[in-house]
Amino acid sequence: MGLDIKKIREDFPILKEKVHGKDLVYFDNAATTHKPKQVIDILSEYYSKYNSNVHRGVHYLSNKCTDANEETRIKVQNFIGAKESCEIIFTRGTTESINLVAFSFGEKFIKEGDEIIVSEMEHHSNLVPWQMLCQRKNAKLVKLPFSDNGELEIDLLPSLINNNTKLIAVNHISNALGTVNPIKEIIDIAHQNNVKVLVDAAQSIQHKKINVQELDADFLVFSAHKLYGPTGIGVLYGKKEILDQMPPWQGGGEMISTVSFEKSIYNELPFKFEAGTPNFIDIVGLGSAIDYVENIGLEVIDAYENELLQYATEKLSTINGLRIYGTAKNKASVISFLVEGIHFYDMGMLLDQMGIAVRTGTHCSETTMQHFDITGTVRASFSFYNTKEEIDALYNGISRICKMMGV
Ligand code: PLP
Repeated sequence: MGLDIKKIREDFPILKEKVHGKDLVYFDNAATTHKPKQVIDILSEYYSKYNSNVHRGVHYLSNKCTDANEETRIKVQNFIGAKESCEIIFTRGTTESINLVAFSFGEKFIKEGDEIIVSEMEHHSNLVPWQMLCQRKNAKLVKLPFSDNGELEIDLLPSLINNNTKLIAVNHISNALGTVNPIKEIIDIAHQNNVKVLVDAAQSIQHKKINVQELDADFLVFSAHKLYGPTGIGVLYGKKEILDQMPPWQGGGEMISTVSFEKSIYNELPFKFEAGTPNFIDIVGLGSAIDYVENIGLEVIDAYENELLQYATEKLSTINGLRIYGTAKNKASVISFLVEGIHFYDMGMLLDQMGIAVRTGTHCSETTMQHFDITGTVRASFSFYNTKEEIDALYNGISRICKMMGV
């Protein structure tokens, strides 16, 4: 079944907005996606009717929010195919999830001389926490490089692993290049060598159907705001047997079962990792976002976004002097590009004047930029609510800018 784009666009109030007097064309979906009214409405409904702190109340409102939070935990469990709901930890987002693992897994399992493999195309959120851990423990960070078309050099991976290797941290889809990485293959190689894998699914959770048990991922992380949900809420999935061995990373309410001046006994999963008042209203919003995408179907979303990617790739490739960075065979709906003679900031600012929102710069992945010896790109990233007509507007916009700039 195809998508009724007109009807879908009706769900997203912001898409009716004008920018500089022009129809908004939003191609910054890799940075954050817009929210359907179903998500916006449920946030308003919960603040208006049910707002009350979770887990610590005996009254109606508290129980209502607590139940809604725990239902969302089960929704996330089913959404990513986890075995148990206690393997779903709510965090502020991808970055916090990775920092949690880097700290807590690091405390338990990383010692001097150990090695952690990270790809050359990681978002800073999946690089800096590992650098910090390596500094703390005197461990070593090892780079898995990518080739010029933006594909990871998987053939090198076995030779990078040795007895000291403890973890591989890699993105499923690169936010800077759009590459879909062979995550299952990476996990298989890692596990043959007794190495754990953290999958950064920040850019894949909204495009691909993920099943953590089929993947056999040890950890998987994502943010709700890139999945049509609210900001400030995200997920860490971890295998129970690993999470059980990891120490808490923040102390406070809810992560304890008993406290005295002498010592505290920590709570069980998932609460051991959820100190303090959780973002309990946005958790409900995340549940609503999952309902929304599941209602459409991730396979349908993926197929349509691929169609947009093919269309845009073919069109933009006809522009003189335009180079696309990231030409992997398996790509998601992200196009990173530069036009010779035009700075990415100029391109972004001039497109903005036409109502077209793209992202410019390093996309928080300076190592990706360093690979190509550039300081940034223009990035257009598409969602299922975008249309071919909007891609035509982007094409026409770039063509006009090229003319204006005399290139
Ligand atoms: N990892 C990838 C691949 C991303 O694209 C992003 C955000 O752009 C992040 C991590 C960080 O996500 P957040 O800022 O929501 O924590």
